[in-house]
Amino acid sequence: MKKIYLDYAATTPMHPAVSKVMQRYFSEDFGNPLSLHSIGQEARNAVEQARSEVANALGANPEEIIFTSGGTESDNFAIKGVAHAMKNKGYHIITSKIEHHAVLEPCHFLQKSGFNVTFLPVDKYGMVDPDDVKKAITDKTILISIMHANNEIGTIEPIEEISKICRDKEVYLHTDAVQSFGSLDTNVNKLGVDLLSISAHKFYGPKGVGILYIRKGTRILPLIHGGAQEWNKRASTHNVPGIVGLGKAAQLAIKEKDERVKHYSHLRDKLIKLILDNIADTKLNGHPEKRLPNNCHIIVKYVEGESMLLKLDAIGIEVATGSACSSGSLEPSHVLLSIGISPEDTHGSLRLTVGRLTTEQDIDYVGEHLPEIVDDLRRMSPIGKGN
Ligand code: PLP
Repeated sequence: MKKIYLDYAATTPMHPAVSKVMQRYFSEDFGNPLSLHSIGQEARNAVEQARSEVANALGANPEEIIFTSGGTESDNFAIKGVAHAMKNKGYHIITSKIEHHAVLEPCHFLQKSGFNVTFLPVDKYGMVDPDDVKKAITDKTILISIMHANNEIGTIEPIEEISKICRDKEVYLHTDAVQSFGSLDTNVNKLGVDLLSISAHKFYGPKGVGILYIRKGTRILPLIHGGAQEWNKRASTHNVPGIVGLGKAAQLAIKEKDERVKHYSHLRDKLIKLILDNIADTKLNGHPEKRLPNNCHIIVKYVEGESMLLKLDAIGIEVATGSACSSGSLEPSHVLLSIGISPEDTHGSLRLTVGRLTTEQDIDYVGEHLPEIVDDLRRMSPIGKGN
């Protein structure tokens, strides 16, 4: 059966050029970058080259790039690291209600140890109002963490406006750019951020590796203690093949950005139109224009997202539901509730995200089958219209 993968926001297949450059670092040039012999130095050079590639992709300096195990660690590091380094100044952190759990959970954890966290609301499109950020800042605020683009509904947040406020008030700004890197401009100076997280597996790199960008001079304590790697900021032997893969994937993401974005947005717009035009009682979630070029997130009323997912999977189409969040729970998504979707309607949501390998025919295939699947389910559904 032909497989049509439409879940690129969950993860992406590695680019062949990425797996190719990684190969030799598994068993041939397997050295530890901290070892002083040649094989160690070979690995060290590879890590430093990757660091320069990522720095270049973000418009940063190589010393501002810290390798981590992925987006979750980078977010935890930024939030707990700054909180602990800055607690003498104040105990207040500001974030939004629609952040990924990798930001929300460290904030909840810090709340238990006495930090004060403001979770800002968003509008019906999932946008944070910069004025709300301004009003929430007090002289005790030490960190603001607002995501660059939302992983469920694709809305792009006004980071540049928020960063101007943070600069004026002298408060650090972190952004989770895990979903936006490679699709939006993530130049750290244009965005004006002090900390930024990315994760390689979201842009055709390997899983289990990411970076935290830390602007020079930012006060932060390590999350992981041990060896002296990463200027004592993040201990543990480097994941050399992963880091090399991340460097290559970042380089390709920047080189191919315009071409990829054009491809994604064309397919996304076609997909949205096919669904909204051919299936009654459907609605697009997230901002109509300020959204990730590859994201289509819809509510299909009177059906369960999981039933649609399973029926689509049975014919080779792989998508995500918007209701069961990444933790695998069946609780309604905190993002959808925050944009004012009713708990019943959240259960009928689907997220379809396109990528490099998605074709026009793939979208046509979804357009051919999804309306029929929804019709069948609505006829059988206990929550169906008219039941
Ligand atoms: N932040 C966002 C916005 C994400 O979408 C994800 C993954 O889905 C993460 C953080 C976590 O990244 P990782 O899977 O690399 O830990």
